[in-house]
Amino acid sequence: MLKAESICKHFPRHTGELTVLRNVSLELEKGRSAVILGPSGSGKSTLLNILGTLEPPTAGRVRLDDCDPYALPERELARFRNRRIGFVFQDHHLLPQCTVLENVLLPTLADRPAADAEARARRLLERVGLAERLDHFPAELSGGEKQRVAVARALINRPGLLLADEPTGNLDRATANVGGDLLVELPREHEVMQVVVTHSESLAERFDRRYDLVDGTLVLRYA
Ligand code: ADP
Ligand code: MG
Repeated sequence: MLKAESICKHFPRHTGELTVLRNVSLELEKGRSAVILGPSGSGKSTLLNILGTLEPPTAGRVRLDDCDPYALPERELARFRNRRIGFVFQDHHLLPQCTVLENVLLPTLADRPAADAEARARRLLERVGLAERLDHFPAELSGGEKQRVAVARALINRPGLLLADEPTGNLDRATANVGGDLLVELPREHEVMQVVVTHSESLAERFDRRYDLVDGTLVLRYA
């Protein structure tokens, strides 16, 4: 499970501190999903980065399956993050010089890759409808296809937690709907916890739990 307790985040500024998150708490059980909505600049990405162990909170605690990741030494934290958390970003972050298949396999390279990594990557790419595109490079793909590669890559290491930051933000509506379907269905199939940030009300209503981030505070709308 994922548990964030009393998270505060301040950024230092020459004019004084900017407080982005005040006492934010969030909880998610295995296999459940949450969506976070909020205006631009409200701190959604900051919160996702904190949950993703990319940015320590100023105060408060994050626990993922009984581990306090921020208590780990840096090298172990990087390993923990790579194995346990999958990320999908708005601009996908695919490596342009790697093929679709290689991009999906990237997270497996940090450790000695499992023998079945490539077969698993192929299965995931088939599941997201890209079986015919394994040898293509990102520049040869549409935005929606890139996003599907990013989803497959995020799941390749069987993470317990998937984080998606405005994953359909750059896609037209029809493409966003297909991407949204995958983002709802795949983590369920793989029993992965998921936290998604989106501006899309129609995507938002498909997740188990909804939070609104307002004035640095997270409000649970429904569970
Ligand atoms: P959102 O994702 O909801 O649009 P962000 O989390 O990106 O919002 O940013 C929230 C606020 O925190 C913004 O005012 C932003 O300028 C500020 N901020 C984010 N990251 C940093 C940083 N590393 N240093 C200083 N200010 C930051
Ligand atoms: Mg953001």
